[in-house]
Amino acid sequence: CGVFGLYAPGEDVAKLTYFGLYALQHRGQESAGIATFEGEQVHLHKEMGLVSQVFNESILQNMPGTIAVGHTRYSTTGSSRVVNAQPAVVDTRLGALALAHNGNLVNTTELREQLLQTETQLLTTTDSEMIAHAIAEAVNAGSGWVEGAIEAFHRCQGAFSLVIGTPEGLIGARDPNGIRPLVIGTLPGPSADEPPRYVLSSETCGLDIIGADYLRDVEPGELVWITDAGLSSFRWAAPATRKLCIFEMIYFARPDSVMSEESLYSYRLRLGRQLAIESPADVDLIMGVPDSGVPAAIGFSQESGISYAEGLIKNRYVGRTFIQPTQTMRESGIRMKLNPLKDVLNGKRILIVDDSIVRGTTSRKIVKALRDAGATEVHMRISSPPVTHPCFYGIDTDSQDQLIAATKSIEEIAAQIGVDSLAYLSWEGMLKATGEDPESFCSACFTGDYPVPVPELVKRSKLI
Ligand code: 5GP
Ligand code: SF4
Ligand code: MG
Repeated sequence: CGVFGLYAPGEDVAKLTYFGLYALQHRGQESAGIATFEGEQVHLHKEMGLVSQVFNESILQNMPGTIAVGHTRYSTTGSSRVVNAQPAVVDTRLGALALAHNGNLVNTTELREQLLQTETQLLTTTDSEMIAHAIAEAVNAGSGWVEGAIEAFHRCQGAFSLVIGTPEGLIGARDPNGIRPLVIGTLPGPSADEPPRYVLSSETCGLDIIGADYLRDVEPGELVWITDAGLSSFRWAAPATRKLCIFEMIYFARPDSVMSEESLYSYRLRLGRQLAIESPADVDLIMGVPDSGVPAAIGFSQESGISYAEGLIKNRYVGRTFIQPTQTMRESGIRMKLNPLKDVLNGKRILIVDDSIVRGTTSRKIVKALRDAGATEVHMRISSPPVTHPCFYGIDTDSQDQLIAATKSIEEIAAQIGVDSLAYLSWEGMLKATGEDPESFCSACFTGDYPVPVPELVKRSKLI
């Protein structure tokens, strides 16, 4: 999911949030929503669909306020229905709160039971609504906004990057491991002698689009509270090791987003270079699977000296296939999406680079399309290791039995997708390319080593 928020009296906060969400569209395409706070009053609009389908000028014009929270969703818990769209708005004794969540809690069963024992009425099946209600419970029991949020966070286990609007101010927070990203930006004040206004976004591309400057990340285990007095920071959890999702770096986040002072495009180029060192091939052309495989393919081409070419043209207006919830939709998705260039491919030995193989369905179709277009050999290189384990922290990789590498060897996968050769990047190579401490990333979908303990029952629901 994508989360966004800002505190900016005097600005058109709904419109700025709309643009922020537009830049975060890749993080979720099922539903979109914005809540604005005009004092105590909340204006909420959320619907199924893309940001551009859910909002128009007149809807945004009817959402005045000084604080806004926005969300783009794809479902990891709870079904794909409008009631599950976010922000989740819940009333408290201090007024309403509007919460946008990216990530996935692992202790929802327990939390749900606890919440249902009290007055709380849960309207949806999402973990995000549970967090909102846990905050409301604490606030209704006498806590203020910050205190109440912190009490609630202590009841949550798993991944959560949150943006929460209240009548008094805006909260941004990350779980103690900082599994999902969240950044802070500033917008210049209305005049030079006035202080800046603060923006929160899943990724820096959400800041760029509204002309905000990147200030810093919300730290793992940190809560920031943004009001007319500026930004104050609370360490709500003892510092733990950061465990940023490596899949954000490899695939999920936009390549123009910056993490650890570098665009993910540059990181993905290095993944491709490393891949070329580890698994070279004698071919005529290097291609990337658009769009996610392209940076690594360019890196592979730079390192190997073999020309890079486009051999598949993507229809940019068809969503990411993996976000659509059913297999049937996924299968029809890919045919709409990529069209091979026959005159580029005909008679050539092709090496195609992708960022990952999950179910293997995309790869198989692409390889067939390349051969049908006249490629004489098709080799595949993947800029991450085999995905062998499901994610419990907010990336929709399905259950383990859906993951092709969970049950098949690399040779078997190569045969199934129909390539002449197949190689994956090593786990060490993927982490080395980050230039950071390997311990500061979650890479559980490649290893099964889950950094935040997942309850046995939850594990069993997705593991073979
Ligand atoms: P598959 O092998 O499942 O057919 O699709 C792999 C393609 O989906 C890759 O091009 C990759 O960019 C993209 N992908 C990346 N992450 C995910 C994910 O979490 N789930 C799915 N299904 N696809 C993903
Ligand atoms: Fe990211 Fe994989 Fe860890 Fe999930 S299991 S948080 S996708 S690295
Ligand atoms: Mg892809």
